[in-house]
Amino acid sequence: MEGVPGSQVFDTATNWRLISECIRAVLQSPGIDTSAIRAVSTTSMREGMVLYDKRGREIWACPNVDSRAGTEATELVQRGLAEKIYRQGGDWVAITAPARLRWIKRHEPAMFRDAAHINMLADWIAYRLSGEFFTDPSIGSSSGMFNLATRTWSPEIIEICDMKRELFPPVLEPGTVAGHVSQGAAADTGLKAGTPVVVGGADTQLGLVGIGVVGEGNFAVIGGTFWQQTIGLREAMIDPEARLRTLCHALPGQWMMEGIGFYCGLSMRWYRDAFCDLEKLEAERIGADAYALMEKAAGEVPPGSNGVVAILSNLMVASRWIHASPAFVQFDVGDPARSGRKECIRAIEEAAAYVSYGHLKVIEEVTSRSCSEVVFTGGASKGTLWPRVMADVLGLPVKVPKVKESTALGAAIFAGVGAGEYPDVATATRAVAGFETTLCGLEADLRRPARAGRAGTAQTSVEGCGHVKRRGPLVGTATGVANLGLRRH
Ligand code: ADP
Repeated sequence: MEGVPGSQVFDTATNWRLISECIRAVLQSPGIDTSAIRAVSTTSMREGMVLYDKRGREIWACPNVDSRAGTEATELVQRGLAEKIYRQGGDWVAITAPARLRWIKRHEPAMFRDAAHINMLADWIAYRLSGEFFTDPSIGSSSGMFNLATRTWSPEIIEICDMKRELFPPVLEPGTVAGHVSQGAAADTGLKAGTPVVVGGADTQLGLVGIGVVGEGNFAVIGGTFWQQTIGLREAMIDPEARLRTLCHALPGQWMMEGIGFYCGLSMRWYRDAFCDLEKLEAERIGADAYALMEKAAGEVPPGSNGVVAILSNLMVASRWIHASPAFVQFDVGDPARSGRKECIRAIEEAAAYVSYGHLKVIEEVTSRSCSEVVFTGGASKGTLWPRVMADVLGLPVKVPKVKESTALGAAIFAGVGAGEYPDVATATRAVAGFETTLCGLEADLRRPARAGRAGTAQTSVEGCGHVKRRGPLVGTATGVANLGLRRH
């Protein structure tokens, strides 16, 4: 939005058109019978929100990263309210509703006065489909206006925001049938009018449901555009040092805590678009994915990236977000063949893995639990190299699910439960989710005798970890990590 620093607008008209086109494209895919669709459910990024007037028309909307309300967030910190909100709602006020609503009240007073409903982006999609206003605990709690313990809107935080209770929609648990596809939405999307619309939820929590990681103490890394390192909880536990954030999970009686690696996935996309024209052209020519070609090149580089280090994401400190200035260091300018683009690609992956490692350590400290294995999902888990790098850096078994678009699968699981196709989430997950492979960390591999493979390739069989192929001599790869001083501690 011009003249409003940090602002990002969520264009509801354009986004509804895109969603409708996407649904139409799916319905027209081979083998899809529209009349066989028993229910639909929705999911989206978190924190993004929409305000409506009393006729139900959208009057204000923003995506997650809108940060226009910096001044208002600072005011909440100075008045001690940010701390109070964090203790009850689980997130700091940087990009959540309390500061945003203050901004709207100050800068758009007429809009603030006219607001009659508020909900989050996944709820907005469900509203566009069904005309019903509701939220669920997983995405509702990302507003920063929930009492985590009660899994519903917090009267105290609503009062801090000077809002009326009536603005806030009912809270329904995921899997509940909340409405039906309207005639208008059917005309836009091609779905059958009357199809049940089932409560879904937030992307990360549904991603966890889609990989079956809903148990207490389960660790997972969702490697999408931003990366979340998460643990499942049976209580609404808060980090006393306000580094991490806590949200309601998508299942009753469950919560999750997370650290966010801000640039972990985004930096790979940036690198592809800024430096990898060759791979993009080649990918187009042979009908492949440019990321796969980038990873193929990076796979020739030993761990430690020949000394090249990427500095991309800090560990999260919710109460004071700091982002390092993105950089690569330690090129060897005398050796372009061993110190160039392919090293940068591997360095990006290693940097993300170290951020995951750091967050898992903070989570272990806060929860007094220790992590013995990690599930790795999201776009980055589609890669052949990234899961391997994760296993090496974390020194833990890393499980990769069959379906990497696990957020969409999580939403489908709830639609299936809502439609009565499955009696509960656990049964649905057992039926549709599963793991493709488990990779073991460098140390675990090194403890086992390697079987000779092709020249330059050692193949290790690690109990419980399947067959792991590694390029190059194992000793060399271990030295690469040690040289960098990037050893686990
Ligand atoms: P979102 O969080 O936006 O849903 P995705 O889960 O689709 O994002 O993940 C996108 C990110 O995953 C990209 O920015 C990139 O970092 C990474 N990625 C996607 N495909 C691959 C691949 N084949 N190999 C390695 N990384 C990949």
